[in-house]
Amino acid sequence: MDLFEYLNNIVDFFKNPIWGYLIRGIIFLLILIWLSFVYWTYRDAKLRNTSAIFWAIVVFVLNYLGLILYLILRPPEYIDDVLERELEIRRMDQLLNEKVERCPACGKPVSKDFLICPYCRKKLKNSCINCDKPLQLDWKVCPYCKTTQ
Ligand SMILES: [Zn+2]
Ligand SMILES: [Zn+2]
Repeated sequence: MDLFEYLNNIVDFFKNPIWGYLIRGIIFLLILIWLSFVYWTYRDAKLRNTSAIFWAIVVFVLNYLGLILYLILRPPEYIDDVLERELEIRRMDQLLNEKVERCPACGKPVSKDFLICPYCRKKLKNSCINCDKPLQLDWKVCPYCKTTQ
């Protein structure tokens, strides 16, 4: 086999139509990956409540570069997580407000069933003469045992 024949073989090898299919397949795959990048960015940006269309276009135009840019610049949290955390904080606040009252004299937190403020000794509640439950100072009858005070 001389050199000419050898080169001819190589040329024949690349003339094979399978190369065309292979290249078309790879291009198709790359386009698929590229479009899924765009879709993923759109969805992720929407979840983070940032401009989804804008970032989708950036990734569509810049491809990998756009994706890297988005990953660097995107907001760190999902909007649902933020909302959930705020809700949780509000729920805790409510719970605290329900359990804790403030002393009308000194403003310090006192429990609902305290009879006297432990900080300034102000009388906060009367105890029922019959069942000892804490009663508001102006209540005329105990709501728990119906005893008149
Ligand atoms: Zn007090
Ligand atoms: Zn009572």
